[in-house]
Amino acid sequence: MGRKFFVGGNFKMNGTIKTIKDIAHNLSTAKLDPNTEVVVAPPSLYLLLAREHFAPSIEVAAQNVFDKPSGAFTGEISPQQLKDCNINWVVLGHSERRTILREDDDFVACKTKAALDAGVSVILCCGESLEEREKGVTVDVVTRQLAAVNKSIGKDGWKNVVIAYEPIWAIGTGKVATTEQAQEVHAAIRKWLADSVSPEVAEETRIIYGGSVTEKNCAELAKQPDVDGFLVGGASLKPACKCYLILLI
Ligand code: PGA
Repeated sequence: MGRKFFVGGNFKMNGTIKTIKDIAHNLSTAKLDPNTEVVVAPPSLYLLLAREHFAPSIEVAAQNVFDKPSGAFTGEISPQQLKDCNINWVVLGHSERRTILREDDDFVACKTKAALDAGVSVILCCGESLEEREKGVTVDVVTRQLAAVNKSIGKDGWKNVVIAYEPIWAIGTGKVATTEQAQEVHAAIRKWLADSVSPEVAEETRIIYGGSVTEKNCAELAKQPDVDGFLVGGASLKPACKCYLILLI
């Protein structure tokens, strides 16, 4: 079976009750392609509101989760609490959390394991900085980030993970990776999965691209054989964002 196309909307720290209701209304009334899985990730404060207003076919993701089920962890949310609220996905390892909030590979791996153990699927982000790309170490960086997770979740964990390749230099900059650059890294990730996890995991795991995706560039990116969808940031906040409908454009 082919890999189902996947489009995530990462609202980051944006949105209000009104804008989230507007996006929910537009997406829930739009004719979505049944062959595309759509997941939206609003700020945690709006998760329940989003769950209430988006159609049931659209999943809702948290933008972060802690690696413990409950306890004295002020400000954190557990995977079990996400499940309790019918939030079945979480974005982990986003470069903004790795850099601004200093999350390292091991912490991202622990959180991925905790989420999966609780039945929460993971959009796992990886990606290199401009400096790392210029040094020619893109694939080393990305596979190092993924290897830490593999060590913690093992071969069976990957079935509930979508990998988001997000070159840091393309996030929020309007500087999208070329289709060749995206395809090259996606193919390298798939090869790494085949060699280091298993050929089945490599075949089945969705690898989506993120970094300045808009309705103008998404159709070209979607044609690449190893691009199985997108994680859309800024553009996902436009109520009529067509990136979610890409296969229908
Ligand atoms: P962007 O963000 O589409 O605004 O570049 C993507 C992301 O950070 O997930």
